[in-house]
Amino acid sequence: MPVIEVRDLHKRYGDHVAVHDVSFAVEEGEIFGILGPNGAGKTTTVECIEGLRTPDGGTIRVLGLDPQRDGDELRRAVGVQLQDSKLPERMTVGEAVALYASFHPDPADGDELLDRLGLAARRRTRFGALSGGQQQRLAIVLALIGRPRIAVLDELTTGLDPRSRRRTWELVEQIRAEGVTVLLVTHVMEEAERLCDRIALIDAGRVVAIDSPAGLVERVQAPQRIRFHPSEPIPDALLLALPEVTAVEQRDGRVEVSGTGDVLAAVTSTLARRRIVVAELRITQARLDDAFVALTGTTEEGTGA
Ligand code: ATP
Repeated sequence: MPVIEVRDLHKRYGDHVAVHDVSFAVEEGEIFGILGPNGAGKTTTVECIEGLRTPDGGTIRVLGLDPQRDGDELRRAVGVQLQDSKLPERMTVGEAVALYASFHPDPADGDELLDRLGLAARRRTRFGALSGGQQQRLAIVLALIGRPRIAVLDELTTGLDPRSRRRTWELVEQIRAEGVTVLLVTHVMEEAERLCDRIALIDAGRVVAIDSPAGLVERVQAPQRIRFHPSEPIPDALLLALPEVTAVEQRDGRVEVSGTGDVLAAVTSTLARRRIVVAELRITQARLDDAFVALTGTTEEGTGA
């Protein structure tokens, strides 16, 4: 049975329909991503799941609970990292962790969580004196302090430096290994590719695809590109004769080949037969951001910033 089930979700703000029709199911132990352009309806969708907003249509079940009806029970089982979560300026990190821990019957070890997120030295620092990235990491600690069965993380690593970002990704992988299901709203393609088992791609309030990161990439069939410097000049025709090759460009001794299928093997074996050595070989494969661009932004709302 899925731990989160969203069926035909519909949500309006006045005349504006933010979520037209969103359905997906998240299995226990998954890291499930919600990805989409600005204004696609991602935050609205997760806020309905968290019980923070009231849907205008559709049904949501989280661990069998109805977020509108069973809010208290839901809050005990679901850890939420809120976007722009603000605490009182004068509250220290340690006080915030103790306060949030007191809401839960069996909280996690706050010191250990602070340590894992690089905040161990900040226990006595007031919230107002933390940097943006430190506030962000504290929000993650507070989302996890109740040992939730489900963690909802919205813009997990926005504003974090590369080291903090990696540390946070490792933590998400660890909590999943401990059995926590993670619902992740993200704009960071590297994050989605690295962490998510499956992604719902949302555009203008509708789901356009649900698939693994690799599955989404496969759908767009963007060409692969290979660039290299050959040890001696090669005629375009030699490479264009290969069925895998769709285009060849040459400039300043550098060759760029576009193609499909196993174009890399086809090109390198052809060159090897002629004893041509390649240097500075670079391969660009279709990635999740190619899939994102190809599959979203087809409506006016989806292209808006
Ligand atoms: P982003 O990636 O920019 O955070 P998002 O996919 O999370 O976007 P939402 O925040 O869910 O998108 O917003 C969806 C649409 O609903 C947007 O057009 C937004 O302007 C609008 N919207 C969101 N919250 C409200 C609100 N409280 N009142 C009116 N309109 C809103």
